Amino acid sequence: MKLAAQQKKKVIVVGGGFAGVQLVRSLDEKMFDVLLIDKVNHHQFQPLFYQVASSQIEPSSISFPFRNVFRKKNNVQIRLAEVQRVFQNENKIATDIGVFEYDYLILAIGCQTNFFGNENIAKNVFPLKTTYDAINIRNHILLTFEKIISAADEEREALFNLVIVGAGPTGVELSGAFAEIKKQVLPKDYRGIDFSKFNILLIEGTKNTLNTMSVASKVESKKYLEQMGVTVITETFVKDYDGETMLLSNGKEIKTKTVIWSAGVIGNNLQGFTSDAYARGNRIIVDRYNRVTGSENIYAVGDIAYMTTTLYPNGHPQLANVAINQAKNVAKNLFRLQSKKKLTEFEYKDLGSMATIGKNKAVVDLPFIHFKGYFAWLVWMFLHLMLILTVRNKLIIFINWAWTYFSKDSSLRLILTPESKKNKQKSNLYQEEHVLS
Ligand SMILES: Cc1cc2nc3c(=O)[nH]c(=O)nc-3n(C[C@H](O)[C@H](O)[C@H](O)COP(=O)(O)OP(=O)(O)OC[C@H]3O[C@@H](n4cnc5c(N)ncnc54)[C@H](O)[C@@H]3O)c2cc1C
Repeated sequence: MKLAAQQKKKVIVVGGGFAGVQLVRSLDEKMFDVLLIDKVNHHQFQPLFYQVASSQIEPSSISFPFRNVFRKKNNVQIRLAEVQRVFQNENKIATDIGVFEYDYLILAIGCQTNFFGNENIAKNVFPLKTTYDAINIRNHILLTFEKIISAADEEREALFNLVIVGAGPTGVELSGAFAEIKKQVLPKDYRGIDFSKFNILLIEGTKNTLNTMSVASKVESKKYLEQMGVTVITETFVKDYDGETMLLSNGKEIKTKTVIWSAGVIGNNLQGFTSDAYARGNRIIVDRYNRVTGSENIYAVGDIAYMTTTLYPNGHPQLANVAINQAKNVAKNLFRLQSKKKLTEFEYKDLGSMATIGKNKAVVDLPFIHFKGYFAWLVWMFLHLMLILTVRNKLIIFINWAWTYFSKDSSLRLILTPESKKNKQKSNLYQEEHVLS
């Protein structure tokens, strides 16, 4: 028994997103000792971030502590740390808590928000790439309404404009969710506010919403959004934003205090690779087995990996399904490697894509069929529930959705900001010296 334990290979998995969690689950327990390192202590279910941001579900229902997820896996250890550098020749990685050695290293570090080099934008907008970002947006939106109640008329215009940049699935889902709570939920909470003045603007650089989906999905998603009262502005780029005024590529300006940025992602940084190891979007170039170029024992999987195939000459789409399937293939190949068997190339089978716009409104593109409306919305909900990690959380989310569906309310609108921030906001209001009603 002791000998078998000594022969086990040590695999370090960096990142516990869709790819990392799947890898740790799939790696053979008898063959590998696994160390999962992540800079946060939980798996984050990104597809439902927008529901946290719009106060529809609690962050805890889409966050899964790694120690709980893997508590029955005796071969798995977990470290809360940020990996900073890879020393390829020494089979070591440096983190902010120390150095770790590996036999195999698997990088599943995902992406971060891409601000396209504009520092003003990066400083002043709200990204949506972590659970923390989602909570931050929720707090900000609710605080905005608290401010509107007491704000002077000239201040209200900027508070009344909520701008979402990027009309991919995230931007479309966010816009739809805010349009719904604007109509059904917020007027009951803030009876003093005239919600007809509250504008939701969705800005997109290309010609269409959901630009990577079918023509029907593009057309229908835009139509749904406009019916719900969202102003969709296409073929327009955001040039600058200083926290008060947004400048657009058509020369127009929008006064706004709330900009949510869902306009793109770029690979997370890690030192230790030369620049030719990277492709467009800061993604690490890998071969058909997800092996990093020039390395025998370092793999990159999921959003961070750039693999070209005949079907995907520009790399795979950055989707949960790609990440999960690459992880499964790498786990299988590591097993085959140890068993001296031939490795299997990764081939992605695209089963389709979908987006929800609101209650009873979704679009689904399957390989041979497109559909929309109530049935599409049910399919969207079912497939997202299936991806949620634990049965407990599946149930919590399902009950939440059912409650919201029938009651048209979610009652989750807590503002949870640190005390110091609240005090700062209060003292700013005192300085303005106008009489509150
Ligand atoms: C708002 C939003 C909505 C989305 N909706 C959908 C959807 O509906 N359907 C779909 O298929 N896809 C969706 N996606 C994309 C999907 O979430 C990604 O494709 C998927 O998460 C990629 O998985 P991953 O494991 O590669 O990376 P991630 O899930 O991003 O995980 C990366 C992990 O690495 C950790 N990490 C990063 N750097 C370090 C470091 N240096 N050291 C330690 N840890 C590190 C991070 O903390 C994180 O836990 C959405 C993405 C977003 C942002």
